[in-house]
Amino acid sequence: MRRLLLPFMLMIPVKLALAQASDEYVSRRMNMVLTQITQRGVVHRATIKAMETVPRHLFVPNSYRNSAYEDRPLPIGYGQTISQPYIVAYMTELMKPSPEMIALEIGTGSGYQAAVLAEIVKHVYTIEIVPQLGSSAEKTLRKLDYSNVTTRIADGYHGWPEKGPFDIIVVTAAADHIPPPLIEQLKEGGRMIIPVGSPFLVQQLMLVEKKGGKVKTRSLIPVRFVPFTRAEE
Ligand code: SAH
Repeated sequence: MRRLLLPFMLMIPVKLALAQASDEYVSRRMNMVLTQITQRGVVHRATIKAMETVPRHLFVPNSYRNSAYEDRPLPIGYGQTISQPYIVAYMTELMKPSPEMIALEIGTGSGYQAAVLAEIVKHVYTIEIVPQLGSSAEKTLRKLDYSNVTTRIADGYHGWPEKGPFDIIVVTAAADHIPPPLIEQLKEGGRMIIPVGSPFLVQQLMLVEKKGGKVKTRSLIPVRFVPFTRAEE
């Protein structure tokens, strides 16, 4: 009898602890959305819902899990970072995403921004230049059942012409100019967001819109992103 009971006695506390931990992350996430996202002016319903849903703590390295919902970017290895939650929400809202849209992301990193977009749009194509990050993001996204995200390891400068044109293009690394292939792969009526400026200094977040065949760019807010790197050609 004792032998039978022991494993159960051990299992119940473990299960309870896991459930409590996940509740704890849910309440931290809700608090993040309230204090960092909605109170700072994000109003797009689908963006807010996506930020409430995506388990950000599962996109950061284990050692940073406790800080996942803090108001800052976090290191994800290889000198790269997962963006601050507010910036992810701000960029997502500006894209005016909706369910029928196809998005391209350059700079998969942890896969978090791709997951946020995937909660809203039909399909997300995302490209990462660091192979280890690309494959670990792919695993995370697969584990969390984001079947509408396709990852690729490449230099995103050239976009993904076979899958375009795109309604939305989100670039999460700072380039010194807007890559012309990305402008080309933007659909008529489409929107792109990209940090532009010198690496390691303050950059400007730029909104690019294609309307009536014309390309309109607008500078939004100062930001600091990791550099857009190039594969050797
Ligand atoms: N969107 C990511 C943020 C990652 S930081 C997230 O949600 O976690 C930006 C990423 O862009 C880094 O992982 C970096 O390796 C990648 N990157 C930089 N230059 C790139 C390029 N030319 N093509 C594709 N990815 C690039």
